[in-house]
Amino acid sequence: MSDLARFHNVVNGQPCASTTGRWLASVNPYTGKAWAEVPQCGPDDADAAVQAAWRAFTKGPWATMSATARGKLLRRLADLIARDAEKLAEIEVKDNGKLLAEMSAQVRYVPEWFHYFGGLADKIEGGVIPSDKPDVFNYTKREPLGVVVCITPWNSPLMLLTWKLAPALAAGNTVVIKPSEFTSCSALALMELVKEAGFPDGVINTVTGFGAEVGPTLVENPQVSKVAFTGGDATGAAIYAQAAKHIKHVTLELGGKSPNIVFDDANLDDAVKGAISGIFAASGQTCIAGSRLLVQRSVYEEVSERVVAFASTARLGDPMERTTQVGPITTQPQREKVLGYIDIAKQEGARCLLGGGTPKDPALGEGWFVEPTIFGDVNNSMRIAREEVFGPVLSIIPFEDEDEAVEIANDTIYGLASGVWTKDMRRAFKMADRIRAGTVWVNTYRAVSFLAPFGGYKKSGIGRESGQAAIDEYLQTKCVWINLAEGIPDPFVIR
Ligand code: NAD
Repeated sequence: MSDLARFHNVVNGQPCASTTGRWLASVNPYTGKAWAEVPQCGPDDADAAVQAAWRAFTKGPWATMSATARGKLLRRLADLIARDAEKLAEIEVKDNGKLLAEMSAQVRYVPEWFHYFGGLADKIEGGVIPSDKPDVFNYTKREPLGVVVCITPWNSPLMLLTWKLAPALAAGNTVVIKPSEFTSCSALALMELVKEAGFPDGVINTVTGFGAEVGPTLVENPQVSKVAFTGGDATGAAIYAQAAKHIKHVTLELGGKSPNIVFDDANLDDAVKGAISGIFAASGQTCIAGSRLLVQRSVYEEVSERVVAFASTARLGDPMERTTQVGPITTQPQREKVLGYIDIAKQEGARCLLGGGTPKDPALGEGWFVEPTIFGDVNNSMRIAREEVFGPVLSIIPFEDEDEAVEIANDTIYGLASGVWTKDMRRAFKMADRIRAGTVWVNTYRAVSFLAPFGGYKKSGIGRESGQAAIDEYLQTKCVWINLAEGIPDPFVIR
């Protein structure tokens, strides 16, 4: 037995290891060393978790529980997460290397989703349909889908899980959670709070391990009705194809190559800060990263210089330290990928204005760092401007006017988010209309809320998370016809 912290899966309310007997190390990106381990599950574990969720959906107390009681459970869970927020945030930092300041703010915000959807649970209403036929009472019911599999990535593990878990439960579904193999610990720690809150056994189950090993069993299982996925677009496409074979519901939250557009009439102090937070927060490992900074040519040199000057002050270091501003990359393969894109950008002729490699500071030890990197004179046809890097790498692209800004902004396979910096409100509204993305921020960047729908256009995904729209993603509509007439007419007489 190793001396690493051990986290267990929970299936049908019982903590368990995997049937494979194997454990998967969780490595701290700052130290490069394993700090915990989680079960490395196989298909049998995935199947057991789905069976438990199916039993809980069809036979357990959850199936007959009132929506009001369900909502109370969600709100109790919210309070427990708030109580343990710092502990959960520290687990996140050890797993994914993001700043403690960011993860603790994020985990303290997570309860709002459980409160919001807990409140929504008993406001899910059907309707009475005005019938065009005599003696018919026709009404609709909104019903849960069944077992929902939630598959999440490594960059904001608890938050992105919550975006699925809270509406899925509020709607009355049961759930199997499949966290990223790199950052599973916080989901398993959350299960202790699920127990404490009093959720019936089997309502929420977990399966850790590699996506390729457990994913197909989860996605293709006939007892699973929906897959709610956040991750890369290649994985999303594979899951979509598997789900299609069995006509399952999906929500897909995928990648992005978001334009952050600065017009020459903008408050440039604000725009520079927005550009920095758009790309260097979380070391660029956010789906909404403003990785393409589009700057109007008249202020292109000035904005580029100011962004480079600001970014060059970033303090890299231990993510647990409150003074650190940029942490390491979450996984070693991801660091290699980011460095690979930096090489590609140089080969393609982009001008490296800042960074462009790994930091030399010996104090950063074994951490998986990449320098905050900025490329100027980027052309939107370069790979650095077209493909998602998911790291601290900014491409600055010049444009002449509104039309060209829109053309470049929309010239991407993605459509997750976008930013516009301008003092001209006519321009702000016009740009918001013309940009093809699920989110447009004007004079701000990276704002999200439990109240506001979030999701992608084009290859950035299908469906919406957060806000009232999210609950619909976990419901289906039943239409009921009650015949109130005496006697059924002759079936061979068509009227
Ligand atoms: P990933 O696609 O590699 O993995 C995501 C999850 O899918 C992991 O849990 C993984 O184990 C699982 N998985 C892998 N193969 C699978 C399979 N065959 N079947 C079932 N599950 C499988 O993504 P990642 O590298 O963990 O995360 C980074 C990506 O996530 C980026 O592309 C980023 O843009 C995207 N992302 C999107 C959003 C959004 O809301 N749109 C938010 C955060 C991250």
